[in-house]
Amino acid sequence: MAANAKTITLISEEDVLNEAMECPTDRALDTKPLAEEHAFAFWQKDIPEEYWHLTAPEIIERVRVAREKLGKRCIVLGHHYQREDIIQFADLRGDSFKLARWASQQAEAQYIVFCGVHFMAESADILSQPHQKVILPNMSAGCSMADMADPEDVYASWDELRDAGVGGIVPVTYMNSAASLKAFCGKNGGIVCTSSNARKVFEWAFERGERVLFFPDQHLGRNTGLKLDIALDEMPVWDYTLPYGSLGGNALEQLERARVILWKGHCSVHLRFSVDQIEAARRRHPGINVIVHPECRMEVVQAADMDGSTEFIARTISEAPADSEWAVGTEINLVSRLARENPDKLVFCLDPVVCPCSTMYRIHPTYLCWAVESLAEGRVVNHLKVDDETARWARIALERMLAVP
Ligand code: SF4
Repeated sequence: MAANAKTITLISEEDVLNEAMECPTDRALDTKPLAEEHAFAFWQKDIPEEYWHLTAPEIIERVRVAREKLGKRCIVLGHHYQREDIIQFADLRGDSFKLARWASQQAEAQYIVFCGVHFMAESADILSQPHQKVILPNMSAGCSMADMADPEDVYASWDELRDAGVGGIVPVTYMNSAASLKAFCGKNGGIVCTSSNARKVFEWAFERGERVLFFPDQHLGRNTGLKLDIALDEMPVWDYTLPYGSLGGNALEQLERARVILWKGHCSVHLRFSVDQIEAARRRHPGINVIVHPECRMEVVQAADMDGSTEFIARTISEAPADSEWAVGTEINLVSRLARENPDKLVFCLDPVVCPCSTMYRIHPTYLCWAVESLAEGRVVNHLKVDDETARWARIALERMLAVP
């Protein structure tokens, strides 16, 4: 870190909730051998035992050799929330959609190794060219928010709303969802959105229907609806855990009045941020800029100075004047990286307790090493393939999103 860095200590040892969740902040790369990760027991286990005890320098060297052999046939993508010891190998880092689009444009790349979570690799496969294969280094790297919208639950809720006579619904799914839900939106006149374009996508939907069924993140849906001046009582929450016939816990009149029906999903990382944390940051640093992700609660987004996608947050801070001060409400790996890369600014995470995304953390460098070495030996491991029919409909929903001005 630069000597004049204005970064502050983001976490203390006692703040670390458990060792498996520990992630680098301003320290050097600190990869532990896979076998020493406490959570390894719950991760993909069918990786040969010879990999389990590799040290960081061994992994770095083996990845280098394998990638030299593969050349331009292989690209490695790193989502913003990946730990530093993965980002060091990434050809491009960014949000899921930016990465998927970029990869599809790299015609020489036969293999796309996606260091992110399951739905991201699916999207990369949907957008990829026919000769490209997408590899997810650890198949247990899912997303707890995406998992809250089980496709069967969404289909049942859709039928229930129709059976109840609630019409004019346009289904809109967040990028953070299963490929089958993107396909469902494609088939039913719906669309996909990202946290960057949610507002414009909602406007697109309202030109085509009376109301939106939005899944899986209620907070992004509510925050977007509020930006469009939709009242809170026009945005009921659909509780998918209730049995068929319960109308998701709503009265029929409420649903008939609704403009946005919000699926009861959330991101556990972004729910950690609170108004109290914002007030504490402002007390400690009067005049500080507070920037948060729209997956945060409504109260947090409203109390912040600005909100936006990971790309927006990264760009805003990078382009901000020297000596500016930023309290950030998003995943700790991105915040820590922004702090390191902007040593002339004060950048820190709103949450004093470390808040990494535990499923992103499952992409351990050893899995990446195993994936690229296998590819270099002519074996494709962890190939993530969306079936053709699902991909075709999902692509339609994604293309509708791309056509939104
Ligand atoms: S940060 Fe939240 S939405 Fe993103 S991958 Fe992790 S759990 Fe899913």
